[in-house]
Amino acid sequence: MKPTSHVRLAIIGSGPAGYTAAIYAARAELAPVVIAGAAFGGQLMITTEVENYPGFPESVSGPELVELFQKQAERFGAKVLFEDATAIDFGKHPFGIETESQSFRADAVVVATGASAKWIGLPSEEKYVNRGVSACATCDGALYRGRPIAVVGGGDTAMEEALFLTRFATEVIVIHRRDSLRASRIMADRAQRHDKIRFVWHSEVAEVLGDEKALTAVRLRDVRDGKTQTLEVGALFVAIGHKPNTDLFRGVLDLNPQGYLVTTPGTTRTNVSGVFACGDAMDPVYRQAVTAAGTGCMAALDAERWLAANE
Ligand code: NAP
Repeated sequence: MKPTSHVRLAIIGSGPAGYTAAIYAARAELAPVVIAGAAFGGQLMITTEVENYPGFPESVSGPELVELFQKQAERFGAKVLFEDATAIDFGKHPFGIETESQSFRADAVVVATGASAKWIGLPSEEKYVNRGVSACATCDGALYRGRPIAVVGGGDTAMEEALFLTRFATEVIVIHRRDSLRASRIMADRAQRHDKIRFVWHSEVAEVLGDEKALTAVRLRDVRDGKTQTLEVGALFVAIGHKPNTDLFRGVLDLNPQGYLVTTPGTTRTNVSGVFACGDAMDPVYRQAVTAAGTGCMAALDAERWLAANE
């Protein structure tokens, strides 16, 4: 039998949303438990330099920022458990959450499980993550100033990344597997009109090439005839979409067609009274550490008020 604990608030997830919720909830004396996950910290853990989080004028590394969030939450009494939530039961109250080694009964729950960038899935891509391969232009674009940069994808994210990267790159090469873009008309037009952006159609990234230290080029394959070409670039931004980490909640919490948690506009309330959602798991639009922290704060305040009204 696993040990079972009763908590007033359980927070599932440990990125900026989860930890901000934990800081606020702990300061409100809710003694939250943070089910941080085995892959704790979320997308910040694959971010080299965070230059846009207020309060760090000299920038801060993603993992360092996560460690600071954790320390700040623990300082006020949050308990952090580095295990995944493996099952949930939101059909009865208190809510049930299982991890590998423990069971929790929680009076209220904040879901902050984030989203994951989709990757192409090449071993060579994985090898150069943070060393030329990135999934976040806002986070890492400035590191590759003065060099050509490749972006893979044909949706709005890819156009947005490509347009943003024109600030730093000598040239941005968008690699897309078809010859028409999935992106909205306005974004597609903006990218196609930009004199620093060039498109390579009908192509996919077959391999990421590099030396001991970093990526130096990408090998492209034409999907029609299999012909390959090598493109020397300073970085590759993978922009083929994000996937919210919400599979655990399917059928229980309302999800939109893309899998993002649905909340009542202007709040973090989900369709289950007493369960709140914040961060990238419910935000397909902004997806920044600071906006995740903001909605994490909202979720803690919403949960605190809900507990006060329902206890
Ligand atoms: P998306 O619309 O699903 O587009 C993903 C793109 O990546 C598609 O062009 C797809 O190619 C390509 N792709 C997928 N898997 C691939 C693979 N394994 N290899 C190569 N290419 C692959 O995703 P998104 O661009 O992240 O956008 C998600 C949602 O957020 C959309 O609703 C979008 O409108 C919205 N969004 C809006 C804005 C904005 O308005 N400013 C900005 C960002 C995102 P195919 O086209 O061939 O399928």
